[in-house]
Amino acid sequence: MKLNPHSYQAYMECPKKYYMEYVIKQPRTVPQNDYFTLYGRLVEKFFTMFCNIWRFKTPYLFPEIIKERLEVLWNGIIESSVIDWSVPYAKLTKDDIFAKAWGDICAIMDSQNQNYFLNTKSEVEITVSLKEGDIINGRLDFIHKDPLGTSISIIDGKGTNKLGKNVKMSQLLFYALLYYFHYKVLPAELGFFYYQFNSLHLIPFNLNIINGFRIQLSCDIKRIKADSSYTPTPSPKSCKYCGYNNRCNDYMVMKAKRAKPSKLQELQGDGVIQFGF
Ligand code: SF4
Repeated sequence: MKLNPHSYQAYMECPKKYYMEYVIKQPRTVPQNDYFTLYGRLVEKFFTMFCNIWRFKTPYLFPEIIKERLEVLWNGIIESSVIDWSVPYAKLTKDDIFAKAWGDICAIMDSQNQNYFLNTKSEVEITVSLKEGDIINGRLDFIHKDPLGTSISIIDGKGTNKLGKNVKMSQLLFYALLYYFHYKVLPAELGFFYYQFNSLHLIPFNLNIINGFRIQLSCDIKRIKADSSYTPTPSPKSCKYCGYNNRCNDYMVMKAKRAKPSKLQELQGDGVIQFGF
């Protein structure tokens, strides 16, 4: 079996979600709207290009030229996305998002935090083969080496405007384990970089924590392989952003159980129990 931080997280949240997304690869049933991902993808695109290509160009690129190139990439992001601009939460226009992202990029590059993106590789894919043919892999946003080249930091970029929300420590521990298996060295730092706050948040870790995570992951891989029922574990947290929640009976039943009596009639509509999968 093949596991990455996202499929692992999906299983831990709800085995049924994992089954739908990664085993039978059922297309999501909730209409896609990439609006909320646009800012993060644009800023990440800048830093990927900066770390891997633009900073090596000679003569150095003027900011105006970089901005022009980023605008071309931005149009590509927009064209490859599914965006419903009519929803109430889509408060920013395409140009607003670009202006905000560019302002935040300039603030980071004008600050000390620019250093995290120097001597740094972006979008680094690591694949590790385990015993019994299992594979774990992941794409690390940033691997930063200190100026002396003696220690490295693994950094995951976050576009959210809420510090600490919807971030999983297990994601960074997964990356650290991949790095350790591949290079036989532990990173010195693990952290989330919040673009909107120009701020790096490190998570505490050491060899014991990584080892604990290794044991946990090994047990979970065995559990996932042995699972044939993929029993759903609905909860407000796991269902909220699930791409199947509009057709999932288990979610509907959970909602009905938690609903106030006055809401129940509304939920029952054309049949709470039997209209999904
Ligand atoms: S909606 Fe909830 S219960 Fe249904 S598959 Fe998604 S996470 Fe699982």
